[in-house]
Amino acid sequence: MSSSLYQFKKEPGLSISAASTTATHVDGPTTSSKASKTLPFRVGHGFDLHRLEPGYPLIIGGIDVPHDRGCEAHSDGDVLLHCVVDAILGALGLPDIGQIFPDSDPKWKGAPSSVFIKEAVRLMHEAGYEIGNLDATLILQRPKLSPLKESIRANLSELLGADPSVVNLKAKTHEKVDSLGENRSIAAHTVVLLMKK
Ligand SMILES: [Zn+2]
Repeated sequence: MSSSLYQFKKEPGLSISAASTTATHVDGPTTSSKASKTLPFRVGHGFDLHRLEPGYPLIIGGIDVPHDRGCEAHSDGDVLLHCVVDAILGALGLPDIGQIFPDSDPKWKGAPSSVFIKEAVRLMHEAGYEIGNLDATLILQRPKLSPLKESIRANLSELLGADPSVVNLKAKTHEKVDSLGENRSIAAHTVVLLMKK
């Protein structure tokens, strides 16, 4: 890996600074901030995982899901909303949820995850983007989410201010293997496409 990177940097016509930037090396002297403003689309990925422990509520996408355990976390432990926030922040080229909303800041301490989503959406609009579409996958062994999937999707769409037709939610088990499959954790992946307004 490192040797191929070294060869890439040594290619004729590419300066070290151009080769070491990730966003602008094909566009010549354009600065990264200028390039980001002109991008018509931006894609972002989010991942989150929480430990499941007895005695905690299980909140997914802002919906209370009946289960024998829930997420031990400083906020409401909403794995889906955290993951969606990280995808939006990632698409905007911003730091992750823990850096934007540190639990050491009283402003965010104990806040429900809907507050983080609303702030991420505000940052998205401030940057001049809107949701193109979003696709999320929840991974949990139990409980079966199918009865609540539409409620979760509707609530997530509302929090995002997006039409439900562009918000997709999938759920799958982890085939009973590892912590996810043993009902000891829950995880989520999200990919989001933002479009310039
Ligand atoms: Zn989280």
